[in-house]
Amino acid sequence: MQLARILTAPLVVDVRRGAVADLGAVLADQRIVTEGRVAIAVGPSLGDSVLADLDLEKLGAAEVFRVTDGTVDSAVSLGKRLRADAYEAVAGIGGGRTIDVTKFAAHMAGVPMVAVATNLAHDGIASPVSSLEHESGKGSYGVVPPVAVVVDLDRVRSGPARLVRAGIGDVVNNLSAIADWELAAADRGEPIDGLAVSLARTAAQAVLHQPGTVDDDDFLTVLAESLVLSGIAMTVAGSSRPGSGGDHEILHAIDQLFPGAGSHGELAGVGALFCTYLRGDDRGCALLAACLARHGLPRTPADLGLSPAEFTKAVLHAPAMRPGRYTILERLALDECDTAERVEAFGRAIGGGATDSGAMDSGATDSGATDSGATGSAS
Ligand SMILES: [Zn+2]
Repeated sequence: MQLARILTAPLVVDVRRGAVADLGAVLADQRIVTEGRVAIAVGPSLGDSVLADLDLEKLGAAEVFRVTDGTVDSAVSLGKRLRADAYEAVAGIGGGRTIDVTKFAAHMAGVPMVAVATNLAHDGIASPVSSLEHESGKGSYGVVPPVAVVVDLDRVRSGPARLVRAGIGDVVNNLSAIADWELAAADRGEPIDGLAVSLARTAAQAVLHQPGTVDDDDFLTVLAESLVLSGIAMTVAGSSRPGSGGDHEILHAIDQLFPGAGSHGELAGVGALFCTYLRGDDRGCALLAACLARHGLPRTPADLGLSPAEFTKAVLHAPAMRPGRYTILERLALDECDTAERVEAFGRAIGGGATDSGAMDSGATDSGATDSGATGSAS
């Protein structure tokens, strides 16, 4: 008889101001490191200032590695170093790129990885997925999830607000990803993991309904915890399903066809809104659009600087980005003409003239974006 399932989850989750300074204590945790042979991987931009915050003395034999890019090659070479020098653990300190490289390297070397996030731009902080660049684009690799997750709110706050806000898109898109999963269950009999859904949906709802902005700690804490929960939901599911549906297929297609149109989280938000629109979920659309608008995030192709024709091209290309994943895009299997029509109608329904393509200019970061009245145009 089985009484419950055993879950893989981080030993430590620490979300607060100044968390980086106490990393030594986390790494000295006997469950993670016994002799103190620790490697620290830092990104190019924050590296030195983070190292200054760390009490390296306390970390004993810690050695510092610089992560200069987000490629598979970088991850493999770090993995080789970790393996060759028999480190007990590695901490990856930085943004998504540094964490993804370190996760992959740790997995390859078979050592535990501590994720120390200095921004909240996406849900990879605690996830079992590493997204890395290679010769022909970007790939997602399954890896062992971090053994500990630390989010330093001071570091998050000192970064660009646009990066922080982007993470909102990568959490609230769970709602669209879950709806796609439910379609796959209904149409294809794909099994749904109810626990993964509970975690992912609760995370998204928390952010959707949390008052405040990225300027206050209460909001940032909920956002950080929701990103962590989203990652754990993926570990529970054994795939990225709880946080990645048609929304991420569109995101990856835009990334490939029109690089630089938006960050991961920004594109996730627009992709989720479009897929929710395609599913005919008016209420979901209104809630999602209001949340994105309230935080000054893009909602329409125009907000991303993409023409309807360009967005149509991305939507048509999207199913090829994730073969085998069944979503609203695969269910509708729209041809070019129908897709273009839906994209136009979506732009009218969501944009509605209440916003313009300048929404993502720097002016949108001030409070004007939150009370401009743009939130009422979603239905
Ligand atoms: Zn994502």
